[in-house]
Amino acid sequence: MPDAGQPIEPSAPADLTPQAAEGAHTPAPPPAVEKSFLVQRFAKIKLGAIHVVGYSVAGEETVTQVPELNVCFDIGRCPYFALTSDIVCITHGHMDHLAGLPYYLSQRYFQGMKPGTVLLPRELERPVDVMLRCWRDVERQSTPYTLVPMSAGQLHEVRRDFGIRAFATHHGGVSLGYALISIREKLKPEYVGRPGPELAALRRAGTDIQYRLEVPLVAFTGDTTAGPVFDNPDVRNAETLITECTFFDADHRTKAKAGKHLHVEQFAAVVLPKLNNQHIVIGHVTRRTSVRRARHLLRRIVGEEKMRNVHFLMDFEGSVNEGEFDQAGPPPADTAE
Ligand SMILES: [Zn+2]
Ligand SMILES: [Zn+2]
Repeated sequence: MPDAGQPIEPSAPADLTPQAAEGAHTPAPPPAVEKSFLVQRFAKIKLGAIHVVGYSVAGEETVTQVPELNVCFDIGRCPYFALTSDIVCITHGHMDHLAGLPYYLSQRYFQGMKPGTVLLPRELERPVDVMLRCWRDVERQSTPYTLVPMSAGQLHEVRRDFGIRAFATHHGGVSLGYALISIREKLKPEYVGRPGPELAALRRAGTDIQYRLEVPLVAFTGDTTAGPVFDNPDVRNAETLITECTFFDADHRTKAKAGKHLHVEQFAAVVLPKLNNQHIVIGHVTRRTSVRRARHLLRRIVGEEKMRNVHFLMDFEGSVNEGEFDQAGPPPADTAE
């Protein structure tokens, strides 16, 4: 990584050379514009009716948005796109997942958007509330916000037909994952095909002719190691599961264990066989391993067939160099959306 605390000096404009100042007989070509390489690139994956937008690198930043459902999982450093989600679900208190929260709330207020709603583990409600009150004083702006303390198994109803259920994860401290649930009222099979007036009469008479159908659309585990979380039906059956696999190289097994993260060997042997998801998105890959190599190592264990519905969040143009960040020069110009 570059040395922290080293200020980045702006380079001198290219045309302030003596020759340029004196003026040349032939018109000089326009000075080359030095494009900044300090451009953060974000992922955008289309999976059926939704998109997964985000950035997730272990220890650096994790923020993952599903714009169609108005929800952002973790907030990272609050990149600009994350401001558009009305709801943020915080999985745990690590800085790389949470740092942007005051910025998210403050900017939304500043820009006239409605106050952000933040779901978070119950144990974090108090310290996060204290932090946000401090920010009000620091910034001298009475930023409004709503904190919703959550426990494993608790359902937060956003609308009659849409809710967010928390589930326990295994990351060493207080941590939760979240499932976005579509809630539908369906006619019980025995009443299907009956005429409308008859159904209306039954309803008036107090007969319960409907049942509640819950469909987990998206589940986000955040940081976790293997454990009962992957037996949870919301996690196993969500149409899209966004989870982590941080380490891939054989000599990173102890790091995975110490940090309570998944190693690819665990992911392949214990986690993947349990999953019924249409789409599986892997984030939080360490910078120590390139995404291309991570995919190669997973494929080597599970085979091509099992890789068909597995996506790496950070697998986009240019991301092949993620692991070589230290050695890499400026990444190519940002041509992604
Ligand atoms: Zn993390
Ligand atoms: Zn963490």
